Amino acid sequence: IERTLVLIKPDGVARNLSGAILGRIEAKGYTLAELKKVDASRELLEQHYEEHVGKPFYEPLVEFMLSGPVVAAIFEGHRVIEGFRSLAGTTDPTTAAPGTIRGDFGRDWGLKVQQNLVHGSDSVDSAEREIKIWFQD
Ligand code: ATP
Repeated sequence: IERTLVLIKPDGVARNLSGAILGRIEAKGYTLAELKKVDASRELLEQHYEEHVGKPFYEPLVEFMLSGPVVAAIFEGHRVIEGFRSLAGTTDPTTAAPGTIRGDFGRDWGLKVQQNLVHGSDSVDSAEREIKIWFQD
């Protein structure tokens, strides 16, 4: 069965939206397989975001992800990778479609990094890679 890594970023946790976000994913029909709250280390985040090294938002992104706890989850289901990304909405929360997680709960706060509430793996290979990083145990 297909699996994806979902992160509720520090903005989502700080705004007490973890339950609402997880509820939407479950309501769509995906199954929660693993769940934990994590104070991520810089090392873990550098592994997770290695593809973005050198981009202008890389350092602000890592700092943002270090700013508070993150909720890490594994969800399962047929085509869950594609399904979660559709549910999350596009990267920029200002213009993400209403009805999506980012579109309904997010906006631009005038910061260097887009605080957009969630992360979801973008392929089977990245899901496998990211699950290893966040759920080593
Ligand atoms: P995907 O990995 O499929 O592209 P994503 O929507 O999470 O999905 P990424 O391009 O991976 O976006 O970027 C990772 C994160 O970096 C984003 O979720 C966002 O928080 C931040 N980010 C991306 N692009 C920008 C940008 N141009 N300016 C500020 N922050 C950005």
